[in-house]
Amino acid sequence: MSSAIPTRADLAALPAYVPGRTIPGAIKLASNEVPGGPLPSVAQAIAHATAEVNRYPDMGAQALTERLSQELDVPTERIAVGCGSVSLCQQLVQAMCAPGDEVLFAWRSFEAYPIVTQVGNAKPVTVPLDSGHTHDLDAMLAAITDRTRVVFVCNPNNPTGTAVRRDELVRFLDQVPSHVLVVLDEAYREFVTDPEIPDGLQFVASHPNVTVLRTFSKAYGLAGLRVGYAIGPEEVVTALRKVYVAFSVNTLAQTAAIASLDAKDELLARCADVVHERTRVRDHLVAAGYAVPDTHANFVWLPLGERAVEFAQHALEHKVVVRPFAGDGVRVTISTPEENDVFLEAARSFTR
Ligand code: PMP
Repeated sequence: MSSAIPTRADLAALPAYVPGRTIPGAIKLASNEVPGGPLPSVAQAIAHATAEVNRYPDMGAQALTERLSQELDVPTERIAVGCGSVSLCQQLVQAMCAPGDEVLFAWRSFEAYPIVTQVGNAKPVTVPLDSGHTHDLDAMLAAITDRTRVVFVCNPNNPTGTAVRRDELVRFLDQVPSHVLVVLDEAYREFVTDPEIPDGLQFVASHPNVTVLRTFSKAYGLAGLRVGYAIGPEEVVTALRKVYVAFSVNTLAQTAAIASLDAKDELLARCADVVHERTRVRDHLVAAGYAVPDTHANFVWLPLGERAVEFAQHALEHKVVVRPFAGDGVRVTISTPEENDVFLEAARSFTR
């Protein structure tokens, strides 16, 4: 007896989010996580908070929002906390788009953008990265239509690690129509060292149609707890709170985020180690003949085209899990010197 209950017909065509694989005994360089577990102070705060898990979490993450407000010097009314910044991406589409409205983003970029767009009944419009694997902001500007409601600019871009510079971004923002929300997704902001790559917060102050997304998953090492935040215009933040799944940022996540802000200097010092390794890994890859674009995040991009999957398989034989994007390239997370060395050995022994 087949009595399949009908679900939304368009969901069948939705691309699935493919997470980086965890393979026992292998080094995981597939999800842009930082190496190393929580700092003792953060682990202790989490342990204390477990005593309260019979209670619902602070619904509006008020304590964390206030803490972020002090940290960023932005009023609380302009900060929305979410269950990871991926949740905020989805909330932004839900908050901004009517069915059939357009969401614009570069491709290739963060793989959740097309998914959250379609889940939100909006239409994804993509603009190819340029030959340097960077956002083509002029082409993106030209792709804006009357139906465009949201533009995602992932800076630095996942998976290529490339970043748009201040002058390019200013020129772009000055020309985007004011009814279009530009979302500067800065999940990897803490790994940026080049002063020409701007901090998006300056544009939240100067442009009423800009929202910045940040996360505790990367530099702050809390990927498993799920907490991120948006800084934007008050009306966008109010709308984000309306489409928030009640209580979706849990007590442990909120507590750990606050404790991580207390330990910010120590955590950012870890990022500096990653940045140091990033240069070393990229230099070795370039010396081995790989055309790795300059990266501003905690990963490198190997534009291997049709050989991407084969490369990932080869790396796995060396007990390293990387992230292939079939027909396009491979993204590899920067980790400890020891783990990076195992990866570099795998890369050197790949026959090309
Ligand atoms: N934006 C970008 C560009 C990302 O790469 C990621 C994670 N891979 C996210 C947002 C989401 O991060 P999270 O939901 O863990 O905060």
